[in-house]
Amino acid sequence: MTTINSKIPQGPLTEKWSYYKSHQKLVNPANKRRLDIIVVGTGLAGASAAASLGELGFNVLNFCIQDSPRRAHSIAAQGGINAAKNYQNDGDSVYRLFYDTLKGGDYRAREANVYRLAEVSNGIIDQCVAQGVPFAREYGGLLDNRSFGGAQVSRTFYAKGQTGQQLLLGAYSALSRQVNKGNVKLYTRYEMLDVVIIEGRARGIIARNLVTGKIERFFGHAVVFGTGGYGNTFFLSTNAMGSNGSVAVQAYKKGAYFANPCFAQIHPTCIPVHGEFQSKLTLMSESLRNDGRIWVPKKKEDAEAIRAGKLKPTALKEEDRDYYLERRYPAFGNLVPRDVASRAAKERCDAGFGVGATGLAVYLDFSDAINRLGKSTVEERYGNLFQMYEKIVDDDPYVTPMMIYPAIHYTMGGTWVDYELQTSIPGLFSIGEANFSDHGANRLGASALMQGLADGYFVLPYTIQNYLADQIRVPRMSTDLPEFAEAEKAVEEKIQKLMNIKGKRSVDSLHKELGLVMWDFVGMARTKESLEKAMKRIKEIKKEFWSNVRIPGEGDALNTELEKALRVADFIEIGYLMAIDAYNREESCGGHFREEYQFEDGEALRNDEKFSYVSCWKYTGEDSEPELLKEPLDYEFVVRQQRNYKA
Ligand SMILES: Cc1cc2nc3c(=O)[nH]c(=O)nc-3n(C[C@H](O)[C@H](O)[C@H](O)COP(=O)(O)OP(=O)(O)OC[C@H]3O[C@@H](n4cnc5c(N)ncnc54)[C@H](O)[C@@H]3O)c2cc1C
Repeated sequence: MTTINSKIPQGPLTEKWSYYKSHQKLVNPANKRRLDIIVVGTGLAGASAAASLGELGFNVLNFCIQDSPRRAHSIAAQGGINAAKNYQNDGDSVYRLFYDTLKGGDYRAREANVYRLAEVSNGIIDQCVAQGVPFAREYGGLLDNRSFGGAQVSRTFYAKGQTGQQLLLGAYSALSRQVNKGNVKLYTRYEMLDVVIIEGRARGIIARNLVTGKIERFFGHAVVFGTGGYGNTFFLSTNAMGSNGSVAVQAYKKGAYFANPCFAQIHPTCIPVHGEFQSKLTLMSESLRNDGRIWVPKKKEDAEAIRAGKLKPTALKEEDRDYYLERRYPAFGNLVPRDVASRAAKERCDAGFGVGATGLAVYLDFSDAINRLGKSTVEERYGNLFQMYEKIVDDDPYVTPMMIYPAIHYTMGGTWVDYELQTSIPGLFSIGEANFSDHGANRLGASALMQGLADGYFVLPYTIQNYLADQIRVPRMSTDLPEFAEAEKAVEEKIQKLMNIKGKRSVDSLHKELGLVMWDFVGMARTKESLEKAMKRIKEIKKEFWSNVRIPGEGDALNTELEKALRVADFIEIGYLMAIDAYNREESCGGHFREEYQFEDGEALRNDEKFSYVSCWKYTGEDSEPELLKEPLDYEFVVRQQRNYKA
């Protein structure tokens, strides 16, 4: 039987990471120069890792699909990044950040990983400030904080509504320094299409030059991927159009486990879907919930009148508004975690109280904040978000409340990694949103940037040495080896197969069909029946894709339809993994809500006895079902409780 070894260090929770660092193997400076590390991805995780490994003296090859590392999806992050600095003196601590993150994830994450994340969080802020990241400051010059969901303290550092962009510019400047020194070589507009395994270890990648269409081989003593999440499986999501889950699928098919695929996050504050021809959803940052109040009409007739355009929300009296989050969750109010806020919005809309033309929207209202703080303060805090909303919806949110509805936003699942961020394939590491490591069944706001940068700046640069210390005698390998040739041939054959289908369906039409199945049957609420339906439909879509997709152009030249097709083929695989994982997990926890498992008041009902494990899916072949392996989650230091945001 396969056993899963998460390599958690011994000792008390608070000392595990220090113990690890003082006992791990290191690589001396002269040997570092002789070791090549491939880092795929230049988002916050990839860029920070590549820069840090370059700084240490390794020879780094860094890949991304965009024309500049700065265009990685991380640039879209708006609201902020968490750290346990306790600058507000409001009771924060490393332990509290650890505890909030573990509880927010509904006790489906590893204690040791989450504690380490909280522990290194403060270093991230210092690192970024030293790089010149312009975090918001208070009048006196001190760094400012705001609140995010699932916490009763203010620990979120931010740069207006552009935190990701500013952090990425910081990481990019550190990366550029290493490029200039010759320690990092950048490969932009390259897409990794497979990982090369030699004698059981990751030893390189096959990548396609997206401009010329040429397939190329690259060697590395180790391969790291920080290729982001797979939210775009749903077609419509808040993720960047280029975000994809392909490298995770490549790794999975070569033997790495795919962990907790069904844990996907639906974000409560997105601009609602408004048409059939939409290809993108826009996030309104969670930070808006600091000052915005969420409500729907109390009476159905008012909701109907609003939907019919006969009543304006501003005309509705205070006593006729239902601030349902404040009513249901007095302790956290509008700042409950995302999964709780999303389900509450769905519940109100399903019950007939939704607003907007479709009835699938609720209000996010700033009138109180504007009266209390003045318009200019609200503008200072959220100006760019309000502007973005007005551009898209053509309505002024300073005057009329914003309309919002939940949408797919983030994926907690991903490639399984141990404490060292190493996958089940030796030498293959996964960082940032691409791995499953720290967020359990639900990620708290502002914790993704924290995790991506923790992995890249502070964790991987240590743990990868523990692996590489045993590789110093391994010479650089030739990419003429048969393993490289075979992997390249398989990639070429796959591309050829796709080009030769010459069917009738566009890639997007099939992706859209998959997305609808995912949203309807594997979305915010799931049931045994809906998941059975999803698995059946996804198999049909897969068949249709591989027999009827049409890709214009050539396989060996610039071809954006081919790029999309390769990614959609993988989204179909991920969609199936998400459905089977959700089907198997007969409980509700975090973002995974099975309608059959809920309390009378609609709250998620966990089953710790049977499902306190990480589900690790193992590939068993093209035409057979994946195998489920389980990594038990033993809670040594924290007593699990039913999540409660009411009191
Ligand atoms: C609209 C929005 C706002 C958000 N706001 C916040 C926030 O305020 N706070 C917070 O904590 N989190 C936020 N998040 C989440 C956060 O932005 C992401 O989780 C995080 O940026 C992911 O970083 P990453 O480095 O793991 O991956 P990404 O930034 O997605 O980078 C992936 C990289 O991999 C490369 N890549 C992918 N596939 C391949 C391939 N096959 N070959 C080569 N290269 C490849 C891409 O080119 C890119 O460089 C937000 C997310 C969204 C969608």
